Formats: sequence, C-alpha cells, structure tokens
Amino acid sequence: MESSQGDVDKLLHILEARETLKHGDATHPIFDDADHLHNTIDAIDAVHARDTLAAVRNMVANPEFDGSFHYKPFEEYPSTGKRRFSDLMSGRWAWKQSDLIAHDPETHGSMVVPIILGADKTTVSVATGNTEFHPVYMSIGNVTNGVRHAHGEAVIPIAFLAIPKVAREHADDNAFRLFRKQLYHASLAHILEPLREGMAKPVVMRCPDGHWRRVIFEIGPFIADYPEQVCLAGIVQGWCPKCLACPENLDDRTAAPRFRDHTDIQVESFDAVTLWDTFGTVADVVPFTRHFPRADIHQLLSPDLLHQLIKGTFKDHLVTWVEEYLHEVHGKAEAERIMDDIDRRCQFADIEIPERIASAPTFPGLRRFPEGCKFKQWTGDDSKALMKVYLPAITGHVPARMVKCIAALLDFCYLARRPSHDTDTLQLMDEALARFHLHRMVFIDEGLRPDGISLPCQHALLHYVSAIRLFGSPNGLCSSITESKHIRAVKKPWRRSSHNKPLGQIIRTNTRLSKLAAIRVQFTKRGMLDSDVITAARIEAGLDEDLANHGPDEGGDVMDADGPCADSTVTLAAVPAYTVDVAALSTSLHKPHVSSMIEQFLYNQLYGDEHHCADDVLPEMWPLFGGNI
Ligand SMILES: [Zn+2]
Repeated sequence: MESSQGDVDKLLHILEARETLKHGDATHPIFDDADHLHNTIDAIDAVHARDTLAAVRNMVANPEFDGSFHYKPFEEYPSTGKRRFSDLMSGRWAWKQSDLIAHDPETHGSMVVPIILGADKTTVSVATGNTEFHPVYMSIGNVTNGVRHAHGEAVIPIAFLAIPKVAREHADDNAFRLFRKQLYHASLAHILEPLREGMAKPVVMRCPDGHWRRVIFEIGPFIADYPEQVCLAGIVQGWCPKCLACPENLDDRTAAPRFRDHTDIQVESFDAVTLWDTFGTVADVVPFTRHFPRADIHQLLSPDLLHQLIKGTFKDHLVTWVEEYLHEVHGKAEAERIMDDIDRRCQFADIEIPERIASAPTFPGLRRFPEGCKFKQWTGDDSKALMKVYLPAITGHVPARMVKCIAALLDFCYLARRPSHDTDTLQLMDEALARFHLHRMVFIDEGLRPDGISLPCQHALLHYVSAIRLFGSPNGLCSSITESKHIRAVKKPWRRSSHNKPLGQIIRTNTRLSKLAAIRVQFTKRGMLDSDVITAARIEAGLDEDLANHGPDEGGDVMDADGPCADSTVTLAAVPAYTVDVAALSTSLHKPHVSSMIEQFLYNQLYGDEHHCADDVLPEMWPLFGGNI
C-alpha cells in the first residue's frame, strides 16, 4: 500500500485498540510499530535480492510457475507439420545450448536454465531536476512468455548499475567513455559471478513441480535498446551489433554475422584503429559474456519490438518523415492544415473504424488523441495506438507509395508481435520486409533522405526472422517487459524514499517486496494462506467450512511424492532408467529389511513429526509397500 512509516504506526495503533476492545485487555499487538514490522520482513531469509544465485534458486523453485515451466527445450510440430516457434525453449538456441551441455560429460543430463537479462535506463523527474537510474532485470527462459509478462516474480530487478558522472567538459573524453563501458561490463560480470560455477558444474535445485533436478545455467538473451546494445556488443556507434554491415549501407544482406570467436580473432590480429574503422569494434571493451562459457553477446541481443519497430521505425522515422514531406511539398501553412486533418482523423478513428467494419470486435486499444499526433511525451502505448489509426488518416494526403510503405511496415509489425510463429508467418514477414524496403525508396525519391536510408533501428528488422527461429516469439523478450517493471522497481520506491541518497532506500524496498512475495508463496504452499488474508482468517475462525475442507492443506511434500516423478527425474538426470522390485533389491543388497525400512520411512514422511514417529506404533500401522523402486 506504500504507506508512510507514520501511517503504519497509526494503523498498528488502531489494530491494537481493536484487539483491546474485543478481548477486554491490552493484548499483544501484531507489531509494536513500523520498525518492528520492517525488521520482521527483513528477517525473512528466503531471498537475497542481489545474490543472483539465490534469486535464480528462488525463481526456479516457485511453485506458482508449475504448469507454465519448460524443463526441456522442445521442437513443436502442430498438425500443419510446420515447426512452431513460441516460448524461448521452443527455439533453436535453447535446443543447441542443451545439446552442447548434453555432450559434455560434466554437465550431461542437466536441465538448462537460460538467464534472461535486461538493462534499461530510466528517469524520475521532479521539480528540482531529473534523477537517472540504471536497473538490470533478470528472468529465466524456462517460464512461458505469458508468465514472463504477467507474473510479478518472473522478472525481477537484480542490480542498479552505476552511472558515472564527470565534469561536463570531460563528458566526451575518450578515456571517460572507455571507463564507463569497462565499468558497465565489469559490473555485469560481477553481478553474474555467483552463477558462473553453475554454468560448468550442475547445481541441484528444487523445481516448480516440487522435484529436484541438476541444473546448468546459461547466459540467455539480453533485452536492450540500441545505445545499450552498442555498449554491450563493444561496437562503434552506427554499426550493427549482430553483423558486419558497414554503417553507410547497413541493409546490405550479404554482410557476414558477428560472432564471439571472430571478434576475438579481430582483437588479436588488428590494431585499435583498424578495428574501429574496418570492423566497428571497440578494442578495449571486453564484453561481460567473455567471463562465461558458451555465451555470445552478438547472438544473444534479442529483437526489441518496442524500440526498434514501434517507437523507432514507425514513430521516430516514418511518422516524422511524413510530416517533413508535407512541409516540403505544401509549405508550412498548408502542411499544418493537413496535419490538423490527420490529427482529427486519428482522434475520431475510434468511432469510425468499428462502424465501418461491422464484424470487427471492439478495439480496446483504440483511444482518442487529445492533441492528435502532436504529443509531447510519447509512450510505447501511444505509438501502438497511433499505429491502429494512422494508415486511414494519411490516405489521400501523401503519395500512394508512402501509404504502401507504412502498410508494409504495419504488416511486418503485427506479424512480429504474434505469440507464435511457423514457417508460413516467417515467410510473410520476409515478404512484408521486402515490400517495406521497396516502397520506402519513396522517401529517397521525394528528396527527404538524400543520403539513403541506413539506420540501425530499421536494419535490426533484417535480423528478426532468424532471431525468432533462435529465441521464439519476440514478444517474450521485448523491452516493454522491462519498461513496465520500472514502475514497481524504481519509480514507486523512489517516490517513497526521502530523495536523499535514494538508491539504498530503493534497493531496500525492492528487497522487502521480494521477501514478502517469497514468504507468501511459502505460506500458500503450506496451506497457511489460501487466496487472500480475509479468506484465510475466515477459515481460521471456522466461518468457511467448505474452503477449510477443500483447501490445499495437505502436506505439500506428501503431494509431491505422487505423480509421474520417476520418469521425468530419471530422464532429466540422464541415468539409465531401470526399476527393480523390492524383493530383488533386498536380495542383491543382502539387506533383508529393505521393505520394512521403506515402510517405516513412508510412515514418518506421512504422519511423523517431532513428537511422533514410526517407532511409536506397531509395524502393522506402517503403509504397505511392495512395489518397484
Ligand atoms: Zn546486422
């Protein structure tokens, strides 16, 4: 509820008064004061927000992900017979990395947990000026794309990177820039260091289904906008982080891809100037991925629908170019009049479109633009809303080729945003992109882009189809996921802070939120907190008999012993699967009591506690066991 310390004190005071009235004496309050409450939260040691290993362990163990968690990479062939790419684990990358891990005797048979990272600067503005923060978020590749979008604990902040400041006259110094990049990579390597050992040697972890598995970590896709990608890939501004296309002609389809070994050889073989001019590689930046096995930063930079496609190519380029075109052709006054008409069409599109297309369902995303296209502050959602109304709004005002160009980009965009893809939709994307490249020549022909079009954001679209084959649907890795996290992880905690050295306070708030979420999962799992607090209280008070009887109050561990666990555990651990019956085992081990020992063990698991064990009852009371092991 983001209450202040004073409000919490007051609320606790009221609760204490109510208890006193109810029971007639001053019973112990739940918490003495806000400090007592905070200390209690801090004492929950289920999670350490900044220890990446503990954070991953916590995420992998979250029972709420059960059913939305892929334990293995998979290839999906629906009835059409065409391979489908959806979640990260359905893509070629997860399959290939799992193969590498399977072929290493040290890691053979382990479950792969891809570590998805995202970094994005954000600004909180106040009257006295802006404060910048640079949070790093982490998720795991095993959860479905849907869960990564919707579940609060599937993407968590793990660090705030330093934003080095220097006197203005030195801000453009090469030495300072290099320092900033090196610090960035050294910080990321340090943050991920707790996971490094688990990339070569399996770690045993509890999984959402309650089973334990051997786990190998793998640095996964990195979600970042272009300036961040430049820093991450150690390339020169204007170059592509994924291929060697030269900045003057980025959309050259013959450009060779960048990859880790090639970059290493470049750096070994050439001097800094050649690296900079010929390969667009910055010599003295060692990407953080070099500290970890198998990770290739050029491959791992994932498509970014929000910055490259929606905000970048559509809003910042095409919408701006159309406006420039109108000014160029009609002069200022007439252009303004046409822009007003376009604005008006955009504003009323939410009424016109559903009427025109009778069968169309309601358009929940459509919205009025109070000032038409002349927004001051554009958010991703504004751009997405504009996409829906822009095409009919400009028709008639600009050449047909411009309309076709924007239509082709919109086709590409809506295809890219699909939750799943197959060879057909990927081919449609290729076709839409080819149409876009053909028709965008209109902006060159009309003299708006005399030097040609060679822009990193637009060039990135060329890498989308192969990225979907590698990582599944891009909407599972989009920066809209990390951007929406800023509110909870940065903006709200910042508002609550004293604004004096706020970072420590922001981190503390995040730590407390994670701890509360973790303890809540534990309480729910143990049947101590069913749905919400009020329901739990009603069950406790005997007011909800039905719920109490059907609630999840069976011991979680007993439940876990059920079900098809043997198969999956054995497969994943890649131990040859065999079972043997108890009698045979007993004979081969020369232990005649194996069977009764198992029964004793089962009794203790099912009914035992600190006051009561199998030895307290007759062996006849122990559950019978004569099955296979
Ligand atoms: Zn490229």
